Amino acid sequence: MAIKENYEKIKSEVEALRPDHPPRIISVSKYQPLEKVEEALAAGIVHFGENRIVEGFEKFHGIGRASIDFVLHHIGPVQTGTIRKYNGLYSYAHGVGSASVLDELKKRLDKDRWKMKVFLQVNLTDEDSKSGFSREEIKSLLRRASSISTEYCTLEGLMTMGPSSGDPVLTRKVFKELHSLRMEYAPNAKLSMGMSGDYRIAVEEGSDYLRIGTSIFGERK
Ligand SMILES: *Cc1c(COP(=O)(O)O)cnc(C)c1O
Repeated sequence: MAIKENYEKIKSEVEALRPDHPPRIISVSKYQPLEKVEEALAAGIVHFGENRIVEGFEKFHGIGRASIDFVLHHIGPVQTGTIRKYNGLYSYAHGVGSASVLDELKKRLDKDRWKMKVFLQVNLTDEDSKSGFSREEIKSLLRRASSISTEYCTLEGLMTMGPSSGDPVLTRKVFKELHSLRMEYAPNAKLSMGMSGDYRIAVEEGSDYLRIGTSIFGERK
């Protein structure tokens, strides 16, 4: 199926699941060629997600110059060596996974005078393959929540990934836990959770941003 149909099918599905305020869908174009991004732009898709800062930069900076409206989200772990590439292009970072990365990012954005909204990634599956704050780390950071945001770097919410096994029971448990962390420690924070394999569960558990790649663009190269 074409990108437009895939996207619209998912959109109406999530609107049916949560008609009052459906989550925003981020179309994850990582490892997809520029032609697919162009097809998506032509279909009216606005929010894109890239996993690697430089790959996203290479794909989108040419489009940026053509001044087509899009909003670029960085969804992967933040490599501080490449964050200067955020400048002028990326609006959101979903994978801020430690206090030191957050500090580096704030410094950089301040220096570049570039505004971004950040999600703090929480590792709730205890899998080593996943980065992010531990439960204790995120709680202690959120207790000082007023110290997180600066003029150029504002806290948008919390992000997590479901278990690699895809087990639906465990996935729901993880998403529920992110939701209750939010309720207890950061009631205004948005939730970034849900991918191709688990977005329905994420919507049911209160997600605000879905990060969907394969179900929109097809398999990655
Ligand atoms: C790749 C990726 C996604 C999208 O995954 P799909 O299964 O293709 O929908 C979402 N979030 C993150 C952090 C990713 O790296």
